[in-house]
Order: sequence, then structure tokens, then C-alpha cells
Amino acid sequence: MSVIVVTGIPGVGKTTVMKKAAEGMNIQFVTFGTVMIEIAKEIGVAKDRDEMRKLTLDQQKELQIKTAEKVANMGDVILDTHCTVKTPQGYMPGLPEWVIKKLQPKTIVIVEADPEEIYNRRKNDPTRNRDPDTVEQINEHQMINRAAAMAYAALSGATVKIVFNHDNALDVAVQQVAPVLK
Ligand code: AMP
Ligand code: MG
Repeated sequence: MSVIVVTGIPGVGKTTVMKKAAEGMNIQFVTFGTVMIEIAKEIGVAKDRDEMRKLTLDQQKELQIKTAEKVANMGDVILDTHCTVKTPQGYMPGLPEWVIKKLQPKTIVIVEADPEEIYNRRKNDPTRNRDPDTVEQINEHQMINRAAAMAYAALSGATVKIVFNHDNALDVAVQQVAPVLK
């Protein structure tokens, strides 16, 4: 084990898949966004995690760098984060060169589902302030994330594993992740 990065667009269920896959294993599970919102609160720039992608790009980059430095010192972890973050100014890379080189992940997992499935999951999640993307926009975001993941692979030597988390098929997704955690 070393650093395993897990990505997937909001609402795809990446946290659920990875928590289940890592059940009973002695692996530390870290959510990049959780470390980042703690730092954001300390600095006083955001109060909740869904506000962060609306901050200025400079503010987000500063938080991203501080978060990456903190995570890089945590040793072996499963890191729950995003290939790209959808900001009002466009897709922001979640693992740009200055982040991926600090983390040097062994594998980048992308959790995907059908755009229609993700659309419906977002609609039914009252706990988060999800963006009202169309099915087409959800599809675009997933395509962009595949491209981003391979760029991060080229920078780090990480492998990229795509895992499907279709409706009522959590166990299938968990099985696909198993070889990555060995
Ligand atoms: P999450 O809890 O995974 O939905 O993440 C919450 C928020 O954290 C995201 O909407 C982003 O604003 C931020 N975030 C998470 N990972 C990254 C990253 N690698 N780079 C920049 N921002 C991130
Ligand atoms: Mg999550």
C-alpha cells in the first residue's frame, strides 16, 4: 500500500464504495475536501464544503496546496478527492502537478455511473448543496475526469482504474476495487 487516490464526480457514491471496500482493513481514509474545509474555516474563507468551489481560483489554489502538504505527511492513505472541481470559471484540476508530485499515488481510481443514475442520485440527496447539472453536463464532467486522470498518471506513473457504481450494484463496485487495495 501507499497512496491510493479515489475520485468520482459528486453524487457518484465514491465515498460509499471506498468505505465498503476498505472495511476491516487497516488503512487510513482521508477526504481531501474535509481537510480543506478545516483549513478554510481556520483562515475564515468558507463555512461549508459546497462553498469552496465558488471561492476565487487563487483562494482555492492556496487551500489546495495547504491541504496537499498536510495529506502528504499522513503516510499510507486512501484519499477521497476530485479529478476536477467544477468552478464558475471552468474545470479546476484537482491534482495539478504541484499536488500529484507531493502525493505520488500508486493508483487513481475513478468511480463512475451512468449520467442518468448520477442525476437522480443528486436529486435525491438533501444533505448536500449539489449543482443542478443536466445529464449532458454530468456526462461531460465524467469525460473530462478520465482525460485529467491520465494526465495525472503521465506525471506520476500512477495507474488509472475505472470502477462502475451502478444502481443496486455496490458489491460489484467493491469487488472491482479489491485488487487496488492489495
Ligand atoms: P467532497 O466532500 O469530496 O465533495 O469535496 C468538497 C469540496 O472540496 C469540493 O467541492 C472542492 O471544493 C474541494 N476539493 C476536494 N478535493 C479537491 C482538490 N483535489 N482540489 C481542489 N479542491 C478540492
Ligand atoms: Mg463524497
